[in-house]
Amino acid sequence: MANSMYEYVKAFEQPDVLLPNTWIVVRIDGRGFHKFSAKYAFEKPNDRRALDLMNAAAKAVLADLPDIVIAYGISDEYSFVFHRSCALFERRSSKLITTIVSTFTAHFVHQWSNFFPDQPLSVPLPSFDGRAVLYPTVQNLRDYMSWRQVDCHINNLYNTTFWALIQQGGVDAKEAEKELAGSLAADKNEILFSRFKVNYNNEPEIYKKGSIVLRDYELVEPGTASETLDEDSAKTVEQLVLSKTHEERDRKRRAKARVTVLHVDIIKDEFWERRPWLLS
Ligand code: ATP
Ligand code: ATP
Ligand code: MG
Ligand code: MG
Ligand code: MG
Ligand code: MG
Repeated sequence: MANSMYEYVKAFEQPDVLLPNTWIVVRIDGRGFHKFSAKYAFEKPNDRRALDLMNAAAKAVLADLPDIVIAYGISDEYSFVFHRSCALFERRSSKLITTIVSTFTAHFVHQWSNFFPDQPLSVPLPSFDGRAVLYPTVQNLRDYMSWRQVDCHINNLYNTTFWALIQQGGVDAKEAEKELAGSLAADKNEILFSRFKVNYNNEPEIYKKGSIVLRDYELVEPGTASETLDEDSAKTVEQLVLSKTHEERDRKRRAKARVTVLHVDIIKDEFWERRPWLLS
């Protein structure tokens, strides 16, 4: 590219490279989805079509970007986790966030009619915001994922009870809110069971646990996970060459693996122990 007198403007661009060797979480969230869900008459408290569409868009994002290790979605939000060794876009924050947001939004719009065949999209069109947060340790990252799943549980128990009071109990939103103010989980379970014959435990897992998107590999039986070398500094040259070959092989395997959606507990150790490649 030829130099011009205008080139100097390039120097105004701020560097935004994310700290190396840290887990990158990009969380996106639907803009004004309270209104959006009313416009398209989402079923309350959970519209299954909308969740399936969110999951389809997230699966497409993982298929497009092999650097993503795992993603977790609830309501109108999705968290995408990049491995701490990720070097995509030289770890430039704005590039990572905007690529996720636009790829997700494009797939969300593209697949809309598969999930809402009778309701064509019209302006204002759905859009998403995004942010990147860094987590330095595996424990911090797991605590982040646990935080989102606990949020899913708390919100879903509240919403399920709130809408039961309105839809089956015949009260208005104000009264339902008043009735639930200060209530504990046990109180909500009790209202659901004694007044509406709903056993919360039997509610669909997708509503209680949210959605986990990852690549499908063979599971490791509990207690058989092999030791992995994780400090480059402790490796010989031969081991480094070998680990580069492994990295290449892993990258190809990742690109080929089928992307699937699960609705399971990610707070307890078992999920992570059976999939040691996720956090290694
Ligand atoms: P903001 O732009 O600040 O994110 P918002 O209106 O999107 O505002 P959120 O806190 O993100 O607010 O909440 C999303 C809202 O979208 C929920 O409160 C719920 O009303 C609605 N919603 C999202 N997904 C579903 C779904 N699958 N079923 C029913 N309602 C949904
Ligand atoms: P990156 O992902 O790094 O942006 P890129 O392939 O998009 O890679 P750019 O530097 O953004 O590279 O250049 C965009 C390229 O897209 C152009 O070089 C050109 O080949 C092509 N292109 C974009 N718009 C047009 C157009 N209207 N007509 C023809 N070619 C186009
Ligand atoms: Mg928000
Ligand atoms: Mg939102
Ligand atoms: Mg939200
Ligand atoms: Mg380009």
